[in-house]
Amino acid sequence: MKNGTKIGIVAIQGDYEAHAKTLDSLGVAHTFVRTPADLAGLNGVILPGGESTTHLKVMTEEGLFDALKKFAAEGGAMFGTCAGAIRLAHEVRGPAQASLDLIDITVLRNGYGRQLASDVHLGPTSLRKEPLEMVFIRAPIIEAAGTGVQVLAKDAGHPVLVQQGKILASTFHPELSAETTVHEHFVSMTT
Ligand code: GLN
Repeated sequence: MKNGTKIGIVAIQGDYEAHAKTLDSLGVAHTFVRTPADLAGLNGVILPGGESTTHLKVMTEEGLFDALKKFAAEGGAMFGTCAGAIRLAHEVRGPAQASLDLIDITVLRNGYGRQLASDVHLGPTSLRKEPLEMVFIRAPIIEAAGTGVQVLAKDAGHPVLVQQGKILASTFHPELSAETTVHEHFVSMTT
């Protein structure tokens, strides 16, 4: 993909390297984000999967929590996968925890069970004709989505890929599949 966009990947813990590899395969410029200063000049930010409680703690300590809210308020695009989707949600349950409140969804952490519920599914998506590969790892369930939220893919009756304006969230891990459809969609949202 040829475009001038530059994407930041929040690199606290978790599978941020996998997002970097996917963006490399698309030829999209990227950088790792660890402090508010790292957000300068970016068009979009990816919040990777991992352990959302750890991410939240470090983000708050580093001032990234407030900086990311400001980034979104100024029109920056954001994409959260799994723990990243938890951080973008309006409301988090199981247990409740603070979140950026940038997309009108309620998520239940570890909604499919704590350890064993890791699975690969194929499911329909409005992003393309062919089904999408979805890798779930201790994923949250999106229990509710507001009317302003577009559902781009569902699995087992629950939304699993949702968008509201320039905010995209998936409960699965597109960065762990060989295909790049979801990242291409996010890149198109940043330009
Ligand atoms: N279960 C993790 C959490 O609640 C998310 C797991 C993941 O990102 N793969 O933070």
